[in-house]
Parts: sequence; structure tokens; C-alpha cells
Amino acid sequence: MRSMVLALMMVFVGVSVHAEKSAVADWGYQGKSGPEHWGSLGASFSLCNTGMAQSPIDMVSTHLIELDDIKFSYVDAPFHVINNGHTLEEIEPISPMVNSRYPQHGQTANHFSNDSTITFDGDLYLLEQFHFHTPSEHTLNHQHFAMEMHLVHHNARHESAVIAVFMKEGKHNQVFQEFLDHAPTQVGGVIDDHEHTLNPKHLLPKNHSYYRYFGSFTTPPCSEGVIWAIMHDPIEISTEQIRQFTRLLGHTNIRPTQPLHKRFVLESKPN
Ligand SMILES: [Zn+2]
Repeated sequence: MRSMVLALMMVFVGVSVHAEKSAVADWGYQGKSGPEHWGSLGASFSLCNTGMAQSPIDMVSTHLIELDDIKFSYVDAPFHVINNGHTLEEIEPISPMVNSRYPQHGQTANHFSNDSTITFDGDLYLLEQFHFHTPSEHTLNHQHFAMEMHLVHHNARHESAVIAVFMKEGKHNQVFQEFLDHAPTQVGGVIDDHEHTLNPKHLLPKNHSYYRYFGSFTTPPCSEGVIWAIMHDPIEISTEQIRQFTRLLGHTNIRPTQPLHKRFVLESKPN
């Protein structure tokens, strides 16, 4: 009963957060509020039109280079899944210790023993949330994958790093199924389940080699300065799971690929 009351409270919080976001500008994936129009929906979205380092991109030619390993330190977290109308998203809890220090938190991993982090590019990043797109936003030689997961992180200077994982049609994925089973069907809905946990490390491919480039968020306001690391290997999910995600969301949720301009895509050299 207590968890039900909590869940109802969270639904209310979720709805109010959504309403607040909608007041800024109503953006979506179809028609007049679709990606082609984002840049003209409001002054704060202008980068969606004028940015020179936008995401996603089509990865056609890459530069093979030795890239540092990304160190993943993801921990189990209770389910806190929201349907914000644009995607289905798991919000990661942040421990009280980090919360109290933030944003002046230290840069040692010791401060983050209860939080999910990555060490990337010589810097420590805290995991905020992860969510999904169907089909994939990034493409490889013009080809989409069935889905793409984005794990969104920030460091102490509020710089963002997103890890992307392609998801291709194949075997049933039990961990992704647990996420789907906790997904709210209503926009603004939230499902909290403190009895069970999810660890995003189980949604990473075995091989951690990756592509990297500088880009932006793929949703308004399309802010730039985002380091992208796109895992080289996809993970597998079943046809039914792709259908279930699409049904839950009710539409596809991708931004078309953006011009590369003068950017390079780097690719880890195989060891
Ligand atoms: Zn995304």
C-alpha cells in the first residue's frame, strides 16, 4: 500500500514536470512540432537550426585511432521509469552525499560509491538517466538499427557525455524486458519500484570499443558541447520487444541525421 501511495505521488510529480516543460514550447516528432520545425518553435531552440555541431549523424568514414577505454562503474538502482511523451526513461538516483556536494563534488571515484559513473576522456561523469529511441538516431553507412539507447552523463563542470548503444533485432533481452515491464503507458506517468533494481551495465555490449565525436543533444534545445561515444557493437532485442516499445510510445522518436560539417568521427583501433 505504501508503495502504491508513493507511486501515485510520483505520477503527480511526473505530470507537473511534464506540464512545466510543455509551457516552454511544445515539440514532438510529427507534423508542425516535428524536428524540421524545432528551430523555429522558440528563441531558445534556435541552435536546432543554426548549430554547426549537431547530432545525430550518419557515420560513413571514421578515423581509426587508439582511444582510451571507458571505465564503466554502474550500480544497481531501483526502477524509476517515466513516460515523458518523447521517450521512456529511467532516472538514476543520486546519493545524498553527492547531492550535498554538487556541483563542487570531488573528482575521486570514492565519492561516488553509491552512484553510477563512467571515467571517460580523463574525467569522471555521473549517470543522470538513460532512455531509448526507435529506430536508431545515429546511422552507420546510412543504415538505421532497430533502436538506440542513450546513457546521459555530466561531469562537475556540467559538461555532458552520452554513451549510445545500437540495438538490433535478434534474441529476446531479459534486462530490456524488465525495463519495458516497468514502463508507464500514459504520458506523464511514472512507475516506481523500490523492490527491484536495474543495472544499465547489463545493457552494454561485451566489447567496449566505440566511435566518438563532438555533437549535441538530439532533442530541443539541441545544446552543443556533448561528447558522444557510440558503442561499436550492437546488443540484441527481439522483434516483439521493438513492437512493445513502439506501442508504449505510440510513435517513432528520432531526429534525422545532421550535417557533419568539419567534424571527424574517431573509431577505437581493435586491440
Ligand atoms: Zn536520446
